[in-house]
Order: sequence, then structure tokens, then C-alpha cells
Amino acid sequence: MTIDRAGIAPSTRVRDYVERFDRFLRDTVAPAEEHLADQGAGTPWQPALDDAGRMHGTVWQARREVQRRAAAAGLYTPHMPTELGGSGFSRVEMMHVEEHVYHVGGLGLGLAALAWTEGPGPHLAHVGEPARRRLLEPLMAAETTAAFANTEPHAGSDVLGMTTRATRDGQHWVIDGRKAWITNAHFCDTVAVVAVTEPGAGSRSLSMFLVESDRPGFSRGPDYPTMLDDGLTGELNFDGVRVPDENRVGEVGQGFALAMTYINWRRMCRGGMCAGWGALLLERAVRRARSRRSGGRPIGELQVVGHQLADMDADVYSARAMSLQAQSELDALGPFTIPLPPQARRLVSLIKVVNDEAFFRVADRAVALHGASGLGLGSVEEKLFRVARDLKIPAGTVEIQRNAIAQALLAGPDTRP
Ligand SMILES: Cc1cc2nc3c(=O)[nH]c(=O)nc-3n(C[C@H](O)[C@H](O)[C@H](O)COP(=O)(O)OP(=O)(O)OC[C@H]3O[C@@H](n4cnc5c(N)ncnc54)[C@H](O)[C@@H]3O)c2cc1C
Repeated sequence: MTIDRAGIAPSTRVRDYVERFDRFLRDTVAPAEEHLADQGAGTPWQPALDDAGRMHGTVWQARREVQRRAAAAGLYTPHMPTELGGSGFSRVEMMHVEEHVYHVGGLGLGLAALAWTEGPGPHLAHVGEPARRRLLEPLMAAETTAAFANTEPHAGSDVLGMTTRATRDGQHWVIDGRKAWITNAHFCDTVAVVAVTEPGAGSRSLSMFLVESDRPGFSRGPDYPTMLDDGLTGELNFDGVRVPDENRVGEVGQGFALAMTYINWRRMCRGGMCAGWGALLLERAVRRARSRRSGGRPIGELQVVGHQLADMDADVYSARAMSLQAQSELDALGPFTIPLPPQARRLVSLIKVVNDEAFFRVADRAVALHGASGLGLGSVEEKLFRVARDLKIPAGTVEIQRNAIAQALLAGPDTRP
């Protein structure tokens, strides 16, 4: 499929979003960042941690305030369908939005303005009417926050190896198990938990349920410190947690497909995220190459440094171009259909692996060009280098993406759109 330039250019409503986001950054986020800087609680991306190793409450509350105000300003959920209160943006439109938000938002509070794991995702479009009113609407308004609980201590890439069980009891389900490495484990109000409902039924063995954090039997486990050092990752325990059937997401047996809907959303978001942060690192590297001198001249005049810049540009440009093309093909296929066709799975995994690998190289070169200051704790380069290494693991490792691409290629001649 060939996509003309008009098909991947920012639409009018993307341009409108970008203008409103910039105003929001200036009028709402900048004063909040100034206030946060005076609190001694760290920054949004390098927060101080509390005694339990969790994100400092002051930083968390600052992010929450940005989320609530972004929702009120219509900036929080452009990716969600209009019938659920979102803006119904396509994947191409979302890539432009995400690129802009990460580029100008940098590592600041502004990133909280656009919903990610903590907000509503496309898997939640499958809840029934009662759960929609009770659980989804508060998430859309950023009155509450969410988590997605799939991974377990002994099952990560091997999703079907999970052991958390949900057993039917009349009009209720009883959930038992332990989930590990969960983003927003410490603060979430609503968890989308994936559990076994029909052992041995392969990709139909799982179902998804929404669990409120005040249900008896639900508890938060310890923090899992990672190299991100953001105090947001931890463990969740489900000890005989009873939820009504209306908390089920989608059909019984659709849990694997719904988990992939969430995970694929996060994979596709890599396109804009890496384009935005990649552009930020490249701009900073060019400034550094112009201003830092060696032997009486700017280091940018040294061929080896010029080549580093050129390689960064090549990675940022090619990953961005590939991602826009793939997102537009995904828009044509339906990025969240259940089941997802093999050609769509291939495109989603291509976006993730190409961006994760390219952004890691870009972040590595950015550190090199900044010398010791690129290694300085808290510098943009140091932080994004750690983020870049992290990105290659959550939402499916880069190895798992290669598996998915190869499987789609081998599945038959219809894998290329
Ligand atoms: C910061 C962070 C946040 C996270 N947030 C969440 C969250 O919100 N919700 C959630 O559910 N999970 C979350 N995770 C978990 C994440 O999705 C898993 O860590 C990831 O899927 C990999 O699983 P694993 O850690 O068990 O590694 P493993 O599956 O044990 O993999 C170990 C190595 O073996 C390779 N490997 C394993 N199986 C295969 C295979 N079949 N083919 C080829 N290679 C293979 C992997 O690529 C990897 O290199 C998060 C993780 C981190 C670090």
C-alpha cells in the first residue's frame, strides 16, 4: 500500500490540539513546574522516593493535577473513541500528537497531560454500560488512575503461562494471584487484570476484569525499583477478590486479545515518543557540537562528531518516517480489531522494534557527544539513555517483536498490505 503525503500530514484537528497543548504548557504546566521545583521533592522524571521507594507524594499530586486539568481542557484522551468522550484521533493523528508532546514536553510535567498507562486505553472500549459509567468515565475525566496487570513473577513474555485465576461464582468472579512489574501499582484506583478462566484453552484461556483498589482481598505489594528510578513500578496481590460480572471487559475468553489491544497501543505509541524525544536529543547534540570546543574549534567540525550527528539524524528520520507509514497502514486495517490480522501484528511490532533500537542508538550517541555531562545524574541525556534501555523490555521485548514479525511473514503471502 502506498500512502500519499496528504495521508500522513498533520490534520487540522492535530494542529488545533498542538496549539492548545502549547498554551496549556505555558499557562498551566510551567507555573506548576516552578512550584514543584520549590518543594524539594525532585522532578517528574527524577522524583524523590518515599520511605517505601515510591514516587514522592508531592510529585504524584503535581502530575495528578496536570492530568485533571488536561482532561478538563480536552487534551487528555484524544486517542479514545468519541462515543466514550475522547476525540477519536486516528493512529497517524496520534503519532503527530505524541511526537509533539514528547518533543516540547521533554522530561517535564507536561507529559502527564496525555493519558498513557495511568489513563484509559483502547481495551476499555469493551466494557459494558454499567462499568463504563462507574469506572471508565472517572478515568476519562482523570478523576481516577488505572493500571494494566498482565505480567507475573514467573510469566512475562510467556503470557499464556500466567497462573492468576478468575473463577465464576454466580454473578461474580473470584480472582486469586499475584502480578509483578506493574506500572502505577502504588497509586491506581482501577486495575485491568488478566486472569485464566479456562485452563488449557490456549489464546482463549484468559479473560480481563476491572478491579477497584478498595475491593477486599486486593493489596499492593512492594516497590520494584528499576533503572527508571521513578518509584512507579510494583506488585499487586489478589487474594479472593470478588468482582461483579459487569466488571468483565469484553467476552469471556477474550483476555489475551484485549491484553494485546492494550499492549499494541503502547507499542504504537513508541513511534511518536521516540520521534519527539529523538528530535530533542538531536537538537541538544547539535547545540553541544557547536558550542563545545576542542583544539580551538567546535567539536562539530571534527569529522567523527559530524558523523555521530548524521547517524542520529538518520535514525530519528528513518524511524519517524517508517512509523508514520505503518500507522497509516494500521489506520486502514483497524489498529484495535479483535482478532488483529497478521499484517497488522507485523506493522505494530515493526514500529516497536525499529523505534526501540533506533532510539537506543540515538540516546547512546547523545551521551557520547556530551562527554561527562552526558553521564551526569539528572541530565536529559543520562535520563533518556536509561529510558531508552528500558523501552526495549516492557510492552513486549524487542526479541518478541522479531518473533511476531517473522510469524506474520511466514503466515502467507497476504501479510503485506
Ligand atoms: C519499567 C517496567 C514497567 C512495566 N510495566 C508493566 C505493566 O504496567 N503491566 C504489565 O503487565 N507488565 C509490565 N512490565 C513487565 C514487562 O511487560 C515484562 O518485563 C516484559 O514483557 C518481559 O517479560 P519478563 O520480564 O518476564 O522477561 P522474560 O519473558 O523472562 O524474558 C527474558 C529474556 O528472554 C527473552 N525471551 C523470552 N521468551 C522468548 C521467546 N519466546 N522468544 C524469544 N525471546 C524470548 C526475552 O526477549 C528477554 O530477553 C513492566 C516492566 C518494566 C521493566
